[in-house]
Amino acid sequence: MKRQRNSRQRQMILDAVMSRSDHPTADQIYMDVRARDEKVSRGTVYRNLGILSEDGEITEVKVPAANRYDFRQSLHYHLFCTSCEKVFDAPLDYESKYDAEMEQKTGFKISRHRMIFEGLCPECGSKDKNEKKV
Ligand SMILES: [Zn+2]
Ligand SMILES: [Zn+2]
Repeated sequence: MKRQRNSRQRQMILDAVMSRSDHPTADQIYMDVRARDEKVSRGTVYRNLGILSEDGEITEVKVPAANRYDFRQSLHYHLFCTSCEKVFDAPLDYESKYDAEMEQKTGFKISRHRMIFEGLCPECGSKDKNEKKV
């Protein structure tokens, strides 16, 4: 019954990702799962996040700080705040024409491209201004 236990834990980890829309880190997911079942180890959470990403159940978002996990499976771009390290969905459509154009130009079989906009989020941006005023 080992397999069943694994899939129960995996479901719990998936639920934890699904319940957050703030692109949590693996550690944040671990804390959420841990609150529900203290027997779950950090290794189990990390391993299952990897499996869920490979299966396409969730999306791994690679940003300059720790990787994030996204319950959205559709292709989209992200904004990354270099100050508070929060990740947001970018309000821009995924441009599949770039993939097609790149295939044509290079002969690569393109599966996707990733785009991360870096800068200060509105909150950190206004904090910065306030500090300068003082
Ligand atoms: Zn910020
Ligand atoms: Zn996202």
